[in-house]
Amino acid sequence: MSRAGEFAQDAPLPTDTIQLTGLRAFGRHGVLAEEKREGQDFVCDLTLYLSLAPAARRDDLNLTLNYAEIAQRVHAVIGTGSFDLIETLAQRIAQETLAFSPLLRAVEVSVHKPSAPIPVAFSDVAVRIFRRAKPERAVIALGSNLGDSRALLNNAVSALRKLPGSRLVAVSDWLRSAPVGGIAQPDYLNGVALLDTCLDPYELLAKMAEIENAAGRTREVRWGPRTLDLDIISYGGLELSDPVLTLPHPRAHERDFVLAPWLSLDAAAQLPGRGPVAELREKLITAADTAAEGEEK
Ligand code: ADP
Ligand code: MG
Repeated sequence: MSRAGEFAQDAPLPTDTIQLTGLRAFGRHGVLAEEKREGQDFVCDLTLYLSLAPAARRDDLNLTLNYAEIAQRVHAVIGTGSFDLIETLAQRIAQETLAFSPLLRAVEVSVHKPSAPIPVAFSDVAVRIFRRAKPERAVIALGSNLGDSRALLNNAVSALRKLPGSRLVAVSDWLRSAPVGGIAQPDYLNGVALLDTCLDPYELLAKMAEIENAAGRTREVRWGPRTLDLDIISYGGLELSDPVLTLPHPRAHERDFVLAPWLSLDAAAQLPGRGPVAELREKLITAADTAAEGEEK
């Protein structure tokens, strides 16, 4: 097995599922020429593994999967082309379904062929496969301005390295930045880490909070000084407008202490919904220069 596969296997699966069963569609799959010519009905059952608590909390369809859309996609896969095997069909359905959203971390697919050409009486024949989603690239911003910031950030990196189902890809240098948010407080030390992870985004957020708490993080004042702050800047191409987890991070594009270290690790970085990080940073610097010139006049 590849290394990528190995780290992916020990990510805990979401315990919640959506189940879609008995999805019937006409297709032309089978080894026999007659099956390809005449076609027959196939029936598919899906179990989708994703965290459902966020959608339930806000009663918001955008935080879960639209099962009507998934059903239509599966229907289209069954109706398109012609495979010899339902094994192949099941695999294609798993691939199409997993591509639907990074929120979906695994899928179980059963494909039934109740009219298969079997010369004895039978009621059903089916294959069932289980497939995990590929890891997603998460961008994590780290910051600290209380205590031994350098040590706290380095410890946070060690903790990131140990996360289940994840592989730490790169960590930037720590750079010093002035605080934002209008509260008088010490300068920050900031950096960015790139993590490939099979943890679902909410599970990842929970892990970030655990690491912050272990560093003695308290929350008295919003944007106040802190021993450790871990923000998820982006998770794959996912866009989520949930106050508990907003993706991409709503202020990332206007923070040079996020964009600069990120760019140092990945010159081609993209902020989902906003474009190339290099261009965002260019804009930020131009705006800062214009503001400074305005002050000089
Ligand atoms: P901040 O990082 O904005 O200074 P906190 O670290 O105290 O403030 O986070 C406040 C809340 O922001 C967290 O409880 C978390 O649920 C929420 N949050 C929303 N989106 C994100 C994100 N992308 N990364 C981290 N936290 C987020
Ligand atoms: Mg934070």
